[in-house]
Amino acid sequence: MSAYTLRNFINGRWQHAHTEQYLEVVNPATAVTLSHVPLSPAADVDTAVQAAQSAFPDWRRTPAGDRIQYLFKLKMLLEEHLDELARIITNECGKTYAESVGEIRRGIENVEVACGIPSLMQGFNNEDIAPGIDEHMFRQPLGVVAAITPFNFPLMIPLWFLPYAIATGNCFILKPSERVPMSTQRFFDLVAQLDLPPGVLQLVNGGKEVVDALLDHPAVRAISFVGSTPVAQYIYGRAAANGKRVQCQGGAKNPVVIMPDADMDTAVRIMADSAFGCAGQRCLAASVAITVGHAQTAFTEAIADAAASRKVGYGLDAGVQMGPVISPASKNRIEQLIGLGEQEGAQVLVDGRSRHVSGYEEGTFVFPTVLNGVHPQSELARTEIFGPVLSLTPVRDMDEAIAVVNGRAYGNMACIFTGSGATARHFRYAADAGNIGVNIGVAAPMAFFPFSGWNESFYGDLHAQGRHGVEFYTQTKVVVERWPSEWSRQF
Ligand code: NAD
Repeated sequence: MSAYTLRNFINGRWQHAHTEQYLEVVNPATAVTLSHVPLSPAADVDTAVQAAQSAFPDWRRTPAGDRIQYLFKLKMLLEEHLDELARIITNECGKTYAESVGEIRRGIENVEVACGIPSLMQGFNNEDIAPGIDEHMFRQPLGVVAAITPFNFPLMIPLWFLPYAIATGNCFILKPSERVPMSTQRFFDLVAQLDLPPGVLQLVNGGKEVVDALLDHPAVRAISFVGSTPVAQYIYGRAAANGKRVQCQGGAKNPVVIMPDADMDTAVRIMADSAFGCAGQRCLAASVAITVGHAQTAFTEAIADAAASRKVGYGLDAGVQMGPVISPASKNRIEQLIGLGEQEGAQVLVDGRSRHVSGYEEGTFVFPTVLNGVHPQSELARTEIFGPVLSLTPVRDMDEAIAVVNGRAYGNMACIFTGSGATARHFRYAADAGNIGVNIGVAAPMAFFPFSGWNESFYGDLHAQGRHGVEFYTQTKVVVERWPSEWSRQF
């Protein structure tokens, strides 16, 4: 792959950004520069918003049944190009090929669900709320909407929003992560083949300037965001102050309780995939294993073995189970946090620092790491690591485990491994998180359920995906209607 210059997709055609500022997009496994991404100026955002505003009246009037025909076509194109898109994701983001395929599959699921919009966006009504008077509730699109997305799922996360936004009749602008802009570039090549009216779907590459221009533009009605908690807080505040609808998904620090009655082989296998899959760069990665009672001994030894034996390398090479982390800065930050854990008294059972993959010496690899005896009040226990590091926190009983689970600021996911229905039921009821897993390591909701982060993992009320997505992208209109006539008096 040779380095090339990425462009924006505005008003139905590819355009160069009006800037001299570009960032390199680097393959984190090979350190090869893949492309240059523009840091577009606010003026490019304005051009896109104007195109979206012009497209909106006709797009909104297009029957929902006709709008979804473009999504059926998009699904087919994504299926046809799945292998190619997966390779691009692996090259720019570092995850393995199988993980990239999995991500695209979860994205396609959202396209499929949004194809149900003619039913999903139905309103409701009552006849004769008073004699001869009827009342109806309709859902209408908002207008121009935008999403700002993170590096760790370059295609899936845009697809948490885009299909619902346009199926409900909005015009949508995507600002992808400037660290992984190549899969969305190729995705918009496919969008260009849909023959959508110009302005309905647009791509503006860039960083903070693009984000701020979207947050401040008076014609942008709604903002969807996924990324770290400090940026989520910033975007939520600024967009809301500008009168926009906002949904912001933030960071995470996900606890998993291991009960002594769990099937330990299953728990270890699933936990290793949750903690080290995608190099720990999943917002639903298991980050802290809370071992209850004598679960500690069996789990600790087995998870250490699983961590030490995981094959790390370039995600397109056969047999590789875990790729690099996204950047040198990320590698440094993760290795420093492992050091912090050590200083705070944790024991490094498996140390993934300063390790190299033969043939990929320049790659930003951190190998799976397991820290034992991490105190729930320590700084490490409260900090999102976003790397392949699992902390172990032993506790005496279930009450103590729930106290540790609920003692965190985040609330993206909490899981339990147990053989008891009653224990699972109590956990499900008491755990302070919006996505719960029972004998599951990555409790990622299917596209027809909301991705339900809580606390510092989410700002807003309507989440991404499914019915929440439909509600987020529509405003309700209630009509009270009387048509005086001979007939209304007859019945
Ligand atoms: P990030 O917050 O650095 O960036 C996300 C987006 O915000 C990018 O498009 C970036 O260009 C933009 N951005 C960054 N700094 C900005 C600023 N100061 N002002 C305006 N815009 C800014 O996140 P990331 O590193 O790309 O992604 C990793 C984070 O995302 C982790 O914290 C992870 O937990 C979180 N995440 C959460 C979910 C979820 O569903 N809750 C899903 C995936 C990732």
